[in-house]
Amino acid sequence: MSSSDGKLREEICRYGRSLFERGLTPGSSGNISVRLDDGGWLVTPTNASLGFLDPARIARLDAAGHLLSGDKPTKEIPLHAALYESRTEARAIVHLHSTHAVAVSMLPEIDPRAVLPPLTPYYVMRTGGTALVPYFRPGDPAVADAIRGLAGRYSAVLLANHGPVVAGDSLEGAVFATEELEETARLYLLLRNLNPRALSPAQVDDLVAHFGLTLPDHRGDCG
Ligand SMILES: [Zn+2]
Repeated sequence: MSSSDGKLREEICRYGRSLFERGLTPGSSGNISVRLDDGGWLVTPTNASLGFLDPARIARLDAAGHLLSGDKPTKEIPLHAALYESRTEARAIVHLHSTHAVAVSMLPEIDPRAVLPPLTPYYVMRTGGTALVPYFRPGDPAVADAIRGLAGRYSAVLLANHGPVVAGDSLEGAVFATEELEETARLYLLLRNLNPRALSPAQVDDLVAHFGLTLPDHRGDCG
């Protein structure tokens, strides 16, 4: 185990515990992966609570996905693999079964290409927007095709009746974006049917220009 590998293992455990203790993913749900410099990954084990991870038992996979050490990885590997494949700059992925995001995924009015309105600047800045993917049985490899179908436009994807999958350029970035998605889902539910004022298109444009964001809606190729 290299020293940077050891530090990443500690970080996965620390963020996992933090997410679990705040009730952001119950039981043994949720998983975290980090992509390493050699193309391999660290992945949380199957049937492991994010609250009680052991750094030494985190699965270490090579670039081809073969297990090199640690426990058997999560069966939700296809989710992670598809998002890394389409977001080549991503270094970490967080997947949770967080209550408010799951609730929003079942609402009839959800736009699959913009699950939540731009309620806050940090939602826009951290996630760039969220796409909805239809329901698949957990572990079904078909979910990977659905994620690839988004053509890398989204770093944040919400699986219907299941939960968010969010990529970041660091583990911290992926965790913060997932938290922002969950909190924005909570705001949306609090405000639903109260006719809230979201950020205007001009306010979103200003964030895009000021922070150099690339949003799915601003690429001009998704109608
Ligand atoms: Zn899941």
